[in-house]
Amino acid sequence: MAATEQVAVATFDGPGARPVIRSVPRPAVGRSAALFTVAACGVCGTDLHILAGHWPKPLPWPFTLGHEVAGIIDEIGPGLTHDYMGNPLRAGDKVMIPPLMPCGECDWCRHHPKHANKCLKPVYYGRYIGFAQAPHLWGGWAEMEYLDLDMLPGTKVYRLPEEMPLWLGTLAEPFTSCIRGFKRAQQMDQFSPGATVVIQGSGPIGVLAVVAALEMGAGRVIVVGAPETPRLALCRAFGAAGTVDIMHLPPGEARIAAVREMVGGYGADVVMDCSGHPSAGPEGIEMLRDGGTYVEMGQFTDAGAVATNWHRVCTKDITIIGSWAFTADDIWTGIVMLNRARNRYNFRDMQMHFPFSEEGISAAITAAREMRCVKATIVPRPDLLER
Ligand SMILES: [Zn+2]
Repeated sequence: MAATEQVAVATFDGPGARPVIRSVPRPAVGRSAALFTVAACGVCGTDLHILAGHWPKPLPWPFTLGHEVAGIIDEIGPGLTHDYMGNPLRAGDKVMIPPLMPCGECDWCRHHPKHANKCLKPVYYGRYIGFAQAPHLWGGWAEMEYLDLDMLPGTKVYRLPEEMPLWLGTLAEPFTSCIRGFKRAQQMDQFSPGATVVIQGSGPIGVLAVVAALEMGAGRVIVVGAPETPRLALCRAFGAAGTVDIMHLPPGEARIAAVREMVGGYGADVVMDCSGHPSAGPEGIEMLRDGGTYVEMGQFTDAGAVATNWHRVCTKDITIIGSWAFTADDIWTGIVMLNRARNRYNFRDMQMHFPFSEEGISAAITAAREMRCVKATIVPRPDLLER
C-alpha cells in the first residue's frame, strides 16, 4: 500500500461557499472496491449550477464535487477483477467512473432500460448520504477517489484505452451526453447522413456536440454561441461550417434570421440546445425546418429565469412530438381503422345533426361553440345518411 495515510479533497459547505481543501483518512479498500489517483477532473456546468443552489434535491453538504474524472488505480480489492465492459482491471490501469449510473435492479431500470438514466436510485451524490466511510472520496476534485461495488452495486468503472491520455479521458462523460442526444434523434429516423445540424451554445457541451455531430454523419454543423475567442474559433477549428456570434445579437428574431441565412433552404434538420439559455428553445424551434427535430440538452435551462418548466424536457428525458395534420397515406389508415371499429363504438352518439339551412348552420355552429354536442354535423341529405 502507498505510504499516504491522508487524502486531500476539496469540499464545499453549500451553495455559494468557497472550496476548502481538507484531509480525510485513506480508506481501507474493500473487496469489490478500488481507490484511484485522480489525474484530472473537469468542471461541469452542472457543478456550477449545484454551487449556485440550483440542484433540485437535497445534497450531502459538505461534499466533494467533480464527476468528469480520469485516474489511475492505486489499490484494488480482490473481488473487483473486471470493469463494466469485462476488461480485466489491475492496479496501474487508467480508469474513469461516470456519475448517474443506473442501479439496474429497480422497477424503472427493468422496464424502461432505454431511459435507465432516470433510474430511481442512481449512483450519484444523493445516494451517498449516510455512507460513513470516506464520505468525501466520491468526487473527482480530490487527490483520490474511491469506488465500492459492494456498497454501491450500481457503480460502473471503465478501463480507459492504454493509449488514451487521462486529460482526454475526462471528456468521455460529457462527450457521451452529446452522442446520446444525437442517437435519440437517429433512433427516431430524424438524423440522416448529411443532415444539417445547428448547435446552440459553444461551451464544452456545444464544442463536443460539433465533434459528435460530425462523427455521426452530419453534413454541415453551425454553432450559435459566444464568445468568438476562444469558443467559436474552436468550433470552426473542429469542423463547424459556420458560427453565429450572439454577443452582439439580441435574443429572438435577429439570431433566428442570422442562423437561417447560414443554414439556407428550409432550415436545419436537427437543432440541439447546449446553451442552457432560456431563449434557446423558442429560437431553436424557428431555426428548424418543418419536420425537423429539436434536442434539448439543458437540465437547468430556465434556472433563475421567469417561471417555466422548459428544462423538464431534458430532465424528464421525454420525447416531444409535434404532429400537424397527416400525410396522404395516413388517411387510408384512418378509414380502415374506423370501419373496422364501427360496431364496437357508438360513433353515432358523437354526432348532433343539423339541417342544411341558414338557421341549421347557425344552430350547428352555436351548438359546437357552446359544447352542447360532441360533433355538430350539417346534413343536407338525411335520406343518404344510412346509405
Ligand atoms: Zn434503477
